Amino acid sequence: MTISELCHVCSMKPDASISSLEYHKMYFHFCSQQCRDTFIAHPSLYTVKAEKQYKHILKRRIMTLAAPLDKDSNELLKASLAEMMGINDVSIDDDKISISYDLLQVTRQQIENRLAEIGIKLGSDWMERLRRAWVHDSEENELDNLAAPIHYYHRPSPK
Ligand SMILES: [Zn+2]
Repeated sequence: MTISELCHVCSMKPDASISSLEYHKMYFHFCSQQCRDTFIAHPSLYTVKAEKQYKHILKRRIMTLAAPLDKDSNELLKASLAEMMGINDVSIDDDKISISYDLLQVTRQQIENRLAEIGIKLGSDWMERLRRAWVHDSEENELDNLAAPIHYYHRPSPK
């Protein structure tokens, strides 16, 4: 195992306390549990670094909170998201959070899980729930499609 290798998901320094993974007879190291989980979900996206076509898939999403946050919750939210990998920008305006992030490093589901862990509730009317379910599905599909092997079709070029 070489220590000089960087985290295979975000290219930061690996954390020795996060266990490495063996995949296709190679060892992969991670800076955080989040990056390890991200890798396990779609390993093929992170194993061929040199040929990786997709370095970043930037998303910007607005999330609606159940209620506007007080000052302490506001700070807690910003600090918690700042600790996550792949989050570029967070702004909070009344009951709306605008977040930009790299889908190759973090998914909306992971962000929502973190909010739940710190006790911040999202809007729960049916439109909000429907929109969230749609976003989760579309992000999963996008990553699944990228992770799928590319098929080459050989056919005569049209004349
Ligand atoms: Zn990482």
